[in-house]
Amino acid sequence: MFRLKANKTSLYKLVGTYEALPPMRRVTITKAPRTPDWWLKWTDADGLLCVAFFSTCMGKPLLSIEKKEFGGPQVSRVVHDLDTKDLLERGMVEEFTTAAERRRAERGGQPVARCKFCGQEIDWITSMEGKQVPVDPDPVFVIEDGGPEEFLDDMGATITGRQARPEEESRDLPVAFVLHRRTCPWADKPTQRRVERGGSYGGLLPAT
Ligand SMILES: [Zn+2]
Repeated sequence: MFRLKANKTSLYKLVGTYEALPPMRRVTITKAPRTPDWWLKWTDADGLLCVAFFSTCMGKPLLSIEKKEFGGPQVSRVVHDLDTKDLLERGMVEEFTTAAERRRAERGGQPVARCKFCGQEIDWITSMEGKQVPVDPDPVFVIEDGGPEEFLDDMGATITGRQARPEEESRDLPVAFVLHRRTCPWADKPTQRRVERGGSYGGLLPAT
């Protein structure tokens, strides 16, 4: 899992690989509050107002650059797909490892656990009550108190809220796992049909 952690200098250098920028002191660099998003504003040699926007969309880092005349129509808008490896080398992205990811790495070549009903990869977390709960393996950021959904953190504690949208993701938010019964397409099906489908995925039962 990756998080953006840009700063003014690294952003200026990144945008400078796409655009001829004026000196850094003539570029306005702004961070959006409570998100990992940033804006850069400058005026180019043709007198166009330029705005670069650095953010993530669906977990992918993007850089969009817009140019317009002052008070006039938009002249151009270009969206650059950024390479995560390049951003890592620039120190603009940090990788963080969750306990579930460590467990998966430690498991090495062993087969992953799969839901008996839908076949999707799952992880097991022991809840505070001592119950084994199947969860989706990729953790998400949670807005606490933002909704009624329950998530489990990697210690098995319940967090109530809703999953953060990509533009809301922030390193300050808690990271937790979605209960697989919420995403399993078979979770609400009658028992009869689930039993028919079961058997080929290693005999794991989702908690219902
Ligand atoms: Zn399932």
